[in-house]
Amino acid sequence: MARTGRNETCPCGSGKKFKHCCASKKNTWSSRIILLIIAGTVLLAVLAAVSYSRQGAGSGRVWSVEHGHYHDASGREAPR
Ligand SMILES: [Zn+2]
Ligand SMILES: [Zn+2]
Repeated sequence: MARTGRNETCPCGSGKKFKHCCASKKNTWSSRIILLIIAGTVLLAVLAAVSYSRQGAGSGRVWSVEHGHYHDASGREAPR
């Protein structure tokens, strides 16, 4: 049997041409996955930037529940 050409009927039995059926499905999937990865990376970067700027917004101090006092942004003991 010859290899399936892009203009021949798709071997999956849909009756469509291969290029309009499983071939294009594969292309759509890989491009969607790449888009998802890019979108996810951008989203994570934005979220990280937002949470970082929020943490640093309040005069650079972080409340420590364990110690019951504020630490500065680098995690050191803040002077009272
Ligand atoms: Zn197909
Ligand atoms: Zn402390």
